Amino acid sequence: MQLNILVVEDDGLIALAIERKLENLGYNVLDVVHTGEAAVQKATTLHPDLILMDIMLAGRIDGITAAQQILAQVSIPVVYLTAYSDPQTVQRAKLSSPFGYLLKPFEEKDLQIAVEMAFYKHQAEKQLRQSEQLLLTTLCSIGDGVITTDAQGLVTFMNPVAEGLIGQETTAVKGHSLTDVFVFDSHSCLETMAALHQQPYDCLMGKNGRLIPIEHTTTPIQNEYGQVLGHVLIFRDVSQRYEAEIALQQAHDELEQRVISRTAELSQANLRLEQQTDELSRSNRDLEQFAYVVSHDLREPLRKIKSYAELLQQRYQTQLDEKADKYIFYVTDGASRLQALIGDLLAYSRIGKGGLHLHPTDLQLILTQVLSDCELTIRDTNATITCSQLPTLMVDPKQISQLFYNLISNGLKFQQTINPQIHIWAEKQEQEWLFGVRDNGIGIEPQYAEKIFVIFQRLHTKEEYPGTGIGLAICKKVIENHKGRIWVESQPGQGTTFYFTLPDMGA
Ligand code: ADP
Repeated sequence: MQLNILVVEDDGLIALAIERKLENLGYNVLDVVHTGEAAVQKATTLHPDLILMDIMLAGRIDGITAAQQILAQVSIPVVYLTAYSDPQTVQRAKLSSPFGYLLKPFEEKDLQIAVEMAFYKHQAEKQLRQSEQLLLTTLCSIGDGVITTDAQGLVTFMNPVAEGLIGQETTAVKGHSLTDVFVFDSHSCLETMAALHQQPYDCLMGKNGRLIPIEHTTTPIQNEYGQVLGHVLIFRDVSQRYEAEIALQQAHDELEQRVISRTAELSQANLRLEQQTDELSRSNRDLEQFAYVVSHDLREPLRKIKSYAELLQQRYQTQLDEKADKYIFYVTDGASRLQALIGDLLAYSRIGKGGLHLHPTDLQLILTQVLSDCELTIRDTNATITCSQLPTLMVDPKQISQLFYNLISNGLKFQQTINPQIHIWAEKQEQEWLFGVRDNGIGIEPQYAEKIFVIFQRLHTKEEYPGTGIGLAICKKVIENHKGRIWVESQPGQGTTFYFTLPDMGA
């Protein structure tokens, strides 16, 4: 790069000689001026790379003053040319930060060295200033607090974040020991964190004694020989994270507490439920016992009433008047219905009494027996019964035959056609067997699908269809005893299918 040089020299001959020397050395002489004022004016308009300035100038200001005025406006290296070297002048020249001196007269070689050195020094200083500025801007704009110290641990610099956290300006603490400026009080923070089972934080004593949880690192500044010149302390306010951790821990503790108390409540409720279930099954047992005793004990007097009423009917049928005949009919009819009811109630209370007697049972055989028990009705109603092959399972044969009997006799009973059709089938599922009993009868409204399994619940009057409302309650109890499920699927007028499952326990 060719340097542009401004020459300031009031002696015309010397100026010419300098200009020549410079050109010989390959420099470009921008201009040659003779006064300090002209030098200031040219320097600020031409922006030379370097100024060769004679100290003693004719005119109002000398070279040193001119250089000072130039440096106040632009950054251009100035090399003084002087024939004088008296201490006072040298002292003044020093104050204007010169980049070199050349004592007149000088050789071309001396001129080249002075120019190159001055230019190089100026460039280096410029770069240094730029990198210092860059460093300062970086330190001032980062989000962490930064403090630097010298080798003795005295504060040399604090960035604005550090000033904010510590609550002091750099000017107030510069030269103070770091340990006086950056004060730790870890104790309270440690205690709080320990109470919350958290990682402890160091705490900085901030403005007005406020404790600020921080994270910090300290790094030594070393020269190329490993000598420690000072330290850089970088720290960060982590209060938000600290508070979030506390809040999280508190929420966690609260939740844990709630879970514990809810669990305690639940286990109490469970206990109450168990007690109630115990009480319920005890009172159920009592009730069953009562029903059993009552129905058992009522059978005998009822049989008597019925037989004597029938005797009355046989003996005095035509001898008494019509009204008496009607009354006798009511008594026998009522007694028959009561007998059926008591019989069913007895059957209901007997289910499960004495336990479940599981045997490998051929259900095909059970069904054949049940169908033979229903033979009369089947014939009377002209019913068609079909069935698939039924398996042999571990069941209580008595109870299961009662179940088939109830479902089939219901299928035969709840009919409006003269040719009832009933189909029974079984299907192997993964862990159990699924059974179905389907009829082509009157059907059931889906809303009553649960209700009909409750004891005494009937959907018809005894005049429409006779019955006691106990049959399906018995079926439900039998299936529950066998750990199975029973349900119905039906639509009015479209027949009914009862489904039930029995576990495949292997016969
Ligand atoms: P019951 O047959 O003595 O009336 P159940 O307990 O056997 O008593 O049946 C309860 C009620 O369920 C019956 O009154 C009837 O309304 C209805 N029901 C049971 N089986 C059938 C069926 N196969 N078709 C239509 N309705 C039925």
